[in-house]
Amino acid sequence: MNYSDERFADIQMLRYRVADFEKLTLRQQTLVYHLSEAALWGRDILWDQNGRFNLRIRRLLERVYLCYDGDRTSDAFRAFTVYLKRVWFSNGIHHHYGCQKFQPAFPEEFLRSQIPSGSDEEELLPVIFDPEIEPKRLNQNEGDDLLLTSSCNYYAPDITQTEAEQFYARQKAQAPDPHHPVMYGMNSTLVRRDGQLYEDVWRSGGRYGAAIDHIIAELEAAIPFAENERQQKVIRRLIDFYRTGDLRMFDEYTILWVNETEGEVDFTNGFTEVYGDPLGLKASWEGYVNFTDREATHRAETLGRYAQWFEDHSPVDKRFRKREVRGVSARVVNATILGGDLYPSSAIGINLPNSNWVRAEHGSKSVTIGNLTHAYDEAARGNGFREEFVIDKETLDLMNRYALYCDDLHTDLHECLGHGSGQLLPGVDPDSLKAYGSTIEEARADLFGLYYMADEKMVELGLLPNAEAYKAQYYGYLMNGLLTQLVRIEEGHQIEEAHMRNRALIARWTLAHYPQAVQLEKVSQGTAVRVTDYDALRGAFGTLLAEVQRIKSEGDYEAARLLVETYGVAVDPELHREVLERYRRLDLAPYKGFINPRYTAKRNAQGEIVSINISYDESYDEQMLRYSRDYSTL
Ligand code: ZN
Repeated sequence: MNYSDERFADIQMLRYRVADFEKLTLRQQTLVYHLSEAALWGRDILWDQNGRFNLRIRRLLERVYLCYDGDRTSDAFRAFTVYLKRVWFSNGIHHHYGCQKFQPAFPEEFLRSQIPSGSDEEELLPVIFDPEIEPKRLNQNEGDDLLLTSSCNYYAPDITQTEAEQFYARQKAQAPDPHHPVMYGMNSTLVRRDGQLYEDVWRSGGRYGAAIDHIIAELEAAIPFAENERQQKVIRRLIDFYRTGDLRMFDEYTILWVNETEGEVDFTNGFTEVYGDPLGLKASWEGYVNFTDREATHRAETLGRYAQWFEDHSPVDKRFRKREVRGVSARVVNATILGGDLYPSSAIGINLPNSNWVRAEHGSKSVTIGNLTHAYDEAARGNGFREEFVIDKETLDLMNRYALYCDDLHTDLHECLGHGSGQLLPGVDPDSLKAYGSTIEEARADLFGLYYMADEKMVELGLLPNAEAYKAQYYGYLMNGLLTQLVRIEEGHQIEEAHMRNRALIARWTLAHYPQAVQLEKVSQGTAVRVTDYDALRGAFGTLLAEVQRIKSEGDYEAARLLVETYGVAVDPELHREVLERYRRLDLAPYKGFINPRYTAKRNAQGEIVSINISYDESYDEQMLRYSRDYSTL
């Protein structure tokens, strides 16, 4: 398997194998097939959510890519190709992670010459080339109007942050059942009509209806192949939600989904994560399908069995712990398809649903996507990165021996236990932390995992081989938070993304408060992290966990703001430059994404599926062009 057959800009494309697909029954394979089709049909929704010009720009770029009859080996065409590949990767014209608009490295004249004069497409040129127009998909700078300065397409361009916040504060105040609030605003674009704010709901017959109808058709085709009755109910309820846009039905669907744990095949399809909205309300569309990796699931199940023990022994104040931790279901899975906001760049651990009260009363499902981690590991082996940034031979040996395994375990702890732990004090609005909510939530889950990595319970349960292994995770985490994650930020920029802010926050807070345990030191290669007291580090993570949980439980916005702004945002320009320089010399791509396998269904004369073939030979541009050709809806 060639894991590095496509490389451009800051991206390396990987392929993932769907191990054991052949071991599924034809009925299961057919279920996977229809759900996978449903996961591909939502692609255009995400493109439009990411920016109102994205779909038109994609059509223009793809036409030029396919039809350009000039010199295809010229610098301009090559730079144009890289630009298109980046746009494909980001599902839009802004960087998928840093959120800033791409600056094309080809002249505007090149593209202008491909547009018939007088065509509507001319108005796309400034959107692509003028750095002042739509500069950022998501702006989180404190003090700015976050809606007016963000290009994501969740609010009409003239709606201010204050207007939107007031609109949703009113909705919340009128909630018929304040203990079970729906996820207000999750599935609509906020627009202005005749001077009034109004929600343009994403549903069949509404906004994005054309894409949603195709999704519904594939979900309906999947129902007869479901593994059990509950799974059928899950799919039916999801269809009801897509038809009506009624958020109470969405909650009903997620409750059914959380309780369906018998089937081997599972999926997510819909409006899910809110990282793309500066106000954290609107959910981007994503879809993926998976089936259980039975052997690897054993580890996650062990954690799930001891969920209450972990909750009871956590260092947070008793008032903020859950008396009864429920339904932490954890599986290791193989992904069969990635779609929407999970494609081509994907999470490797996923915990859903996101509704606080549904999680509290019905639990959540957690997965680690084993075949993606495996592909990452293959690609990362022996690329020189660790040798460059790890401080000494002893630590390097420790990392080489335990880092991969520890990372998986930490992901399990984060997803299976971390997000599900703790509770809000009665009456606290789950959105009180506003723009800081996502970062604080990720920090909480990471700290829970870090704290327990060093617990002797891990060795006792057979999850770690010895009492030293966790040190690989501690060292790797601090090295990433203090140094190496900076490679993912362009010079002169700040940290924006919630997971990155969280890692910086934890690592720098620890560096500032526990100088006896961790220091930054100049060694021959450059700056490196030195850990001098691993025991003390565990104390640090426990202390910070207690504080972060307090902030979340009490809804202490001011403390959240202070913590994130002090430790999670700014970048030391000198250190940043040094890390980027050392990283450049290694010539590695900081971001990776995945090319999906391709499924082909063979049907008999009656139209029934008789076999499903899976292939891995499609190239990146072939796949993107095929998706644009076969799954365009908007
Ligand atoms: Zn998380």
